[in-house]
Amino acid sequence: MGDVEKNLAAIKQTIKQACSNAGRREEDIHIIAVTKYVSMETAERAIEAGISHLGENRIEGALDKWEKFQDKASFHFIGQLQSKKAKKIIGKYEYIHSLDRISLAEELEKRLENGSKVKCFVQVNVSGESSKAGLDAAEAIPFIQELEAFSSIEVVGLMTMAPYEEDPEKTRSWFRELRMLRDRVQELGQPNAPCKELSMGMSNDYAVAIEEGATYIRLGTSLVGNETNA
Ligand SMILES: *Cc1c(COP(=O)(O)O)cnc(C)c1O
Repeated sequence: MGDVEKNLAAIKQTIKQACSNAGRREEDIHIIAVTKYVSMETAERAIEAGISHLGENRIEGALDKWEKFQDKASFHFIGQLQSKKAKKIIGKYEYIHSLDRISLAEELEKRLENGSKVKCFVQVNVSGESSKAGLDAAEAIPFIQELEAFSSIEVVGLMTMAPYEEDPEKTRSWFRELRMLRDRVQELGQPNAPCKELSMGMSNDYAVAIEEGATYIRLGTSLVGNETNA
């Protein structure tokens, strides 16, 4: 078994345990392999191991992986997206996890024509950590209400990055807060904001995120490794 396969087997065990702790179903958890620090070959190994979602955070690495694997995986843009670069991934990346401002929504709306849509996660900085992108929790609902006017944007869920903690248990309150916010968005009943999904949990904290309701976990180091500091 290759490294990626071995890592994936261990991750699946952790997912199983976290689901059992929380009374959730494993099939509701989608693994996004974050390939920003690895080669094409390693990304390919993830696909061969059964991964069907790939995540990239920079436009530069985003396009070549899409060219190569577009038929084999769904693509998730998980990094900060400059409005002027958004056109490069529109129509290619099925999901954008970093929608956090109206100017970006306007750019997406302008570029998406004839009824096509893009699935977006609204990024929320629930911890308020200054180094993290995203809206403040209090801004999320008014922002999503404002998005009602954007017919090409579907708010499929909310995304957050928790602060790094040696003890991942300490991230639990942030994930719980995002889930409660998600439930409030659902209560709006806004047609373009079904907001069923929670994109939360990275290599260090995904077990806790799953216990708190994550449906998409974004795994780099623990799954495909990091070849930039090898
Ligand atoms: C890099 C990155 C990840 C993956 O991080 P790991 O800790 O290596 O799993 C997840 N989400 C975002 C937004 C990232 O930029």
